[in-house]
Amino acid sequence: MSRYETYLREHRDRHLAELKDFLRIPSVSALSAHRPDVERAARWVADAMQAAGLEHVEVLPTGGHPVVYADWLHAPGRPTALVYGHYDVQPVDPEHLWVTPPFEPDVRDGKLYARGASDDKGQVFLHIKAVETLLRVDGALPLNLRFLVEGEEEIGSRHLPAFVEAHRDRLRADVAVISDTTFFARGVPAITTGLRGLAALEITVRGARGDLHSGLYGGAVQNPLHALVELLAGLRGPDGRIRVEGFYDRVRPVPEEERRQWAALPHDDARLVAELGVPALFGEAGYTTLERLWARPTLELNGVWGGFTGEGTKTVLPAEAHAKITCRLVPDQEPEEILDRLEAHLRTHLPPGVTLEVRREPGGARAVLTPHDHPAVQAARQALREAYGVEPVLVRMGGSIPVAETFATVLGLPVVLLGFGLPEENFHAPNEHFHLENFDGGLRTLCAYWPLLARGAL
Ligand SMILES: [Zn+2]
Repeated sequence: MSRYETYLREHRDRHLAELKDFLRIPSVSALSAHRPDVERAARWVADAMQAAGLEHVEVLPTGGHPVVYADWLHAPGRPTALVYGHYDVQPVDPEHLWVTPPFEPDVRDGKLYARGASDDKGQVFLHIKAVETLLRVDGALPLNLRFLVEGEEEIGSRHLPAFVEAHRDRLRADVAVISDTTFFARGVPAITTGLRGLAALEITVRGARGDLHSGLYGGAVQNPLHALVELLAGLRGPDGRIRVEGFYDRVRPVPEEERRQWAALPHDDARLVAELGVPALFGEAGYTTLERLWARPTLELNGVWGGFTGEGTKTVLPAEAHAKITCRLVPDQEPEEILDRLEAHLRTHLPPGVTLEVRREPGGARAVLTPHDHPAVQAARQALREAYGVEPVLVRMGGSIPVAETFATVLGLPVVLLGFGLPEENFHAPNEHFHLENFDGGLRTLCAYWPLLARGAL
């Protein structure tokens, strides 16, 4: 390890200067005015990969912003890891809240401030420089690496699933390593092994052909808004349990050992209550907050509307009422099956006098879960332990990362989320920054990780 550390120390100033160059490119994928900058950032990544010693470097077109691909495949018989990150960034507004301009990187109090410093250019950069370090020090990598760095993550990775489908062969690997997440807290390195999935639908409850006068018809026909709220109220019990028949049938229980580890994490319900400004937390009975967030499915109403909402009174029986519903899914729930069950529940419990229309929304995703004892997880654990001198924690995330599901589903890969950001680093907000302790720690971790992964039995 120390030879890598010596190299990293000797080249730290240059590395940091290069990262600042990368951060100066305003590669905001959402804004068409920045299209040339996004292209420039892709080029920058490709050049940096080439300089580090990666091969077959290509900027590949998608239907949108390009993907940068590179590999190093001279370790026959050794595992192959697919490294994912993104070079695009979020818009910067409100710009006046930035202490220093978002695309003029500035180091203050050991933190590097710039849009993309942590999400995700800084983390992509660590991977490129870890390769440079291993190649300069050893002359070879201990395993095979492929890189896929995209430019549309901040706008939903729209073209990535099709790209991955089309380039299956080029992306063949034993494990996907994604560095676009955070530690559990400062000084508490984390490996994320699970993500929840998603299923979504929109419903419309219909009554009469048009809106009706409540004086002429009120009492004689069903009110679609009443029918809708009755229907929605039945979806969840006061104990927080979802009442859709079969909703929990496939839910995999959390291993006792994992529950114990989560219970030991530095999480504080009272602090969360204060942070969110809610009078109390609420969730499914019988589970802790982290269990509810990471390992239990949910059904949420995201929008409910209909009828008259303007000023004053309008005595109307609305013709329609609407709701948007999404479910966060856990292993082994299937998005389509959950929507089947939800639709069946809604049709069975539909109050009389109205009809129901159900529209399934695209973008469903399965949950992703990599077992703790997977060699790629164990190697990451060991690498973080060596680099930080503390025991890392294994966590899950309540959200979904579409690319992780794509890698798991399309490529059949176990996914390890090994991120070096911190939750307080203002991702997507003004004054985004990256703690330089994790710039150094991240490089040390990756230089330890690849040799450990190469030795592990993958
Ligand atoms: Zn990101």
